Amino acid sequence: MKLSQRITLVSTGMLFIILVMVNIGIYFVFQYNLLQGEMDRTLDQARAVAAAVSTQPEENPASFIESYVSGDGMVRVLSPEGESLLTVTTQNTQLASIPTPEAAEAQERTESFLFEGLPHASAQVPVLWEAGEVMSLQVVDPLPTYQETLQTLQVVLIFASLIILLPSFLAARSLARFVLRPIQALVATMKQIQADGTFQKIDYDSKGKDELADMGRTFNHMIELLKQNYEKQQQFVSDASHELKTPLTVIDSYAQLLRRRGREKPEVFEEAVEAISSEAARMKEMTNQMLALATGESITVEKEVINTVPVFQGVAQQLATAYERKISVKGESTAYISGNELQLKQLAYLLIENAIKYSEQEVLIQIQKEEPQVNISIIDKGIGISSEDKAQIFDRFYRVDKARTRESGGTGLGLAIAENITAFHQGEIVVESEPGKGSIFTVKLPLVKEGGTEG
Ligand code: ADP
Repeated sequence: MKLSQRITLVSTGMLFIILVMVNIGIYFVFQYNLLQGEMDRTLDQARAVAAAVSTQPEENPASFIESYVSGDGMVRVLSPEGESLLTVTTQNTQLASIPTPEAAEAQERTESFLFEGLPHASAQVPVLWEAGEVMSLQVVDPLPTYQETLQTLQVVLIFASLIILLPSFLAARSLARFVLRPIQALVATMKQIQADGTFQKIDYDSKGKDELADMGRTFNHMIELLKQNYEKQQQFVSDASHELKTPLTVIDSYAQLLRRRGREKPEVFEEAVEAISSEAARMKEMTNQMLALATGESITVEKEVINTVPVFQGVAQQLATAYERKISVKGESTAYISGNELQLKQLAYLLIENAIKYSEQEVLIQIQKEEPQVNISIIDKGIGISSEDKAQIFDRFYRVDKARTRESGGTGLGLAIAENITAFHQGEIVVESEPGKGSIFTVKLPLVKEGGTEG
């Protein structure tokens, strides 16, 4: 059974039970009062007859009493032993067959009973009879109006209940629908999400303060979080695959170099083994990060005090060998920052590799301290970047010349990653470039003293 049907049924059912109980209560209280009234009336009548009989004794009391007998009623005089001394009926002579009380006490008493399926009231009062004896005078009256009134009451109560039940049933049904509409929307959205794997939000009353609006808000917030998480994972996977390309290029180039000249030149052998080993370590670290992300662990990137100069020199040396290009590093011999070496190496790879990809001449790396920061400029004399493109090159997947970058293996992620790394180190990247003349990418990072304090 659907929830809306259940809500309607339960609320209407409860109301029905309450109505039945209240109606039964009303019916019995009313019936009791009505019957009591009828019996009091019969008692008054009996008293009146008894008083009349006592004050006006006549030769023939039967005909005198007859004038007091109502339509279908009966008056009879009973001896203390319960024997009927006189019975007067007008229309319904059958009443005389009503059994007399076994002992008719000289006391007032009333009762009601069914006779021939019709309710009757009976009242007994003491009466002074011939020769001054105290007898009992009984008046019996049928109660047709009492029965009719009760029947009318039954009809009225049933109708009144129906009039209450019908609108309350309709109200419960529309309330159930109103309450369940957002839940149905939620279920439909969840099914949609399941079917096409997209992150969808539900429409809800954003100004609402009730639980339903709260539910919509919470659901949409949850979807937003899921979406962000998913996008983060996607980003990491694409960033990581982009990042893995460079170490593989370096390893490949050094392996080729080893094959060609490794046997004759021991210094080439040393350098190649060193480069391959450090690139393998970098790939291992990246793979660990990817695994951590996939298993839901949070990746903590630790910072330490590092000299940026050897980091850039090392990367320049490796890339120079890998791409067989001339790269010179000039300027300071030490420039300490607080950072993560692996990330800093990645930054160097990204910028130097771009300079190699988008130029054909020598690449220069200029490291200059400008307290309280160090400026590391990667200078190339290549194709340069137009001022419109300059604004967008840091966007993910943005490539200036799609055909050319595809040729050179670009994905448009490199500078976005470089900017992230720089931001993580509280620095910034500034670009100066002129199309046809070349580009200068300057990374500005806050300096720290060799011992570890900033300054
Ligand atoms: P890609 O993987 O395509 O190199 P990047 O994010 O590293 O992606 O660079 C984005 C775009 O910026 C490149 O496609 C290229 O057009 C331009 N770009 C980056 N560095 C240079 C540079 N040194 N000289 C000229 N253009 C560059």
